Amino acid sequence: MKVKLILPSLTEAKSPFWRPIKYSLFPPIGLATLAAYLDEKDEIDLQDQHVEKLKLDDSPDLVVIQVYITNAKRAYAIADHYRKRGAFVVLGGLHVTSLPDEAEQFADAIFIGPGEQTFPKFLKDFKNKKTKRRYYSRLGRTIENQPPIRRDLIKRRKYLVPNSLVISRGCPHHCDFCYKDAFFKGGKSFYTQRVDEILVEIDRLKGKHLYFLDDHLLGNPKLASELFEGMRGMGRVFQGAATVQSILKGNLIEKAAGAGLRSLFVGFETFSEENLKQSNKSQNLKLNYELAAKRLHELGVMINGSFVFGLDNDNEDVFKRTVDWGVKNAITTATYHILTPYPGTRLFENMQKAGRIKTRDWDLYDTRHVVYEPKNLSAEEIEVGYWWSYKEFYKWSNVFKASLSHDSVKHQLKHLFYTGGWKKFEGLWNILINIGGLKSMLPLLELLLSEVNNDKSLHQKLENIAHVFKNISIETK
Ligand code: SF4
Repeated sequence: MKVKLILPSLTEAKSPFWRPIKYSLFPPIGLATLAAYLDEKDEIDLQDQHVEKLKLDDSPDLVVIQVYITNAKRAYAIADHYRKRGAFVVLGGLHVTSLPDEAEQFADAIFIGPGEQTFPKFLKDFKNKKTKRRYYSRLGRTIENQPPIRRDLIKRRKYLVPNSLVISRGCPHHCDFCYKDAFFKGGKSFYTQRVDEILVEIDRLKGKHLYFLDDHLLGNPKLASELFEGMRGMGRVFQGAATVQSILKGNLIEKAAGAGLRSLFVGFETFSEENLKQSNKSQNLKLNYELAAKRLHELGVMINGSFVFGLDNDNEDVFKRTVDWGVKNAITTATYHILTPYPGTRLFENMQKAGRIKTRDWDLYDTRHVVYEPKNLSAEEIEVGYWWSYKEFYKWSNVFKASLSHDSVKHQLKHLFYTGGWKKFEGLWNILINIGGLKSMLPLLELLLSEVNNDKSLHQKLENIAHVFKNISIETK
């Protein structure tokens, strides 16, 4: 059987000729995970429109498309195309789970919820020509004893972070604006792999660098602790995401740093207690964000802080306060979002009841547009403030100011190179993506994620960085 797995590009990744680096980071692990349930004899083609032009003149028997809210229009158009060519088209993912009635119009079958249990069931039905319209994942959710992810289908050289992995599903918390509860409705909403299986998966991955794409890497402290124990001495460096609470509690974060954690995505989201309460983000209440940042810095862990604008208690000073806080607390990179009520979430439900949803154009649900009626600020003020915040946080004077607040020169330089490299060289990234030179950047990323507190001299490190740059220029010529 010929099977095609497709990740259509998000609306924000507009042009095939201009690709911001953030869309070439991670391979489509979800689709490669599903591919593991296919037969060895099946002819499988996995395509990610973020990094390649879709080949649409083929004739697969089965097409599986992963749908997010801002690629939904593209996904539906691709589905139409393949159905006209006689293929059986299935759709799954966050948006399909949120709006099954909408998605169903464009598919022969849809998956609701995570795919590990539904996909094998569907394949059996497909073989027996007895498919249903909808496949629900409810009982028996697990990611233990799963077949190995088909990483051989991933075009590694097209991604900066080919070694991405996900060792859990969901998260133990229940924030109102998050997709999580909607996606896992009707069954377990947080579960993990076994440590021995995770370590085997890590062993399969070439190189030093890993990126855990879990919503909350420290969400199960026992598992995380055993995992970090097992990873000690493996010589890996890794990145992931976790909550403020998990950074401040116990010594899990030290264990993570000891195992190679070098940068963490942290959901600070808002400084307002009212906003936190209203968003049901109770795990952040009464926590000292400064202390969390300090603790990470002392461990040499860089911080990608996530912040949301447009919550009901935000007023006009929220943008400056948030940027100033990030610079003062030496956050390495900041990700700002405009509050977005994704369909299926409690936030959407509440806003809809209150008549506050302004548009159902899903392309605008990209966290850069105000799609609801805000309270204290106008939509325009929020959008202007959002773009101002990015510009302000990443201006060189602030990048230098934040870098210089670290104690050691090495930490200062790492911050400077990482933040600068990330946001100041979009043109260079675009060239590298287009000429297929991304893999040359991985050694540089690994170098920037090297330990802050080791005994190598600064001189040596700088020489290493220069050497890497030299190699890149040779390879990309
Ligand atoms: S902590 Fe993060 S992943 Fe978990 S529910 Fe809240 S926003 Fe979602």
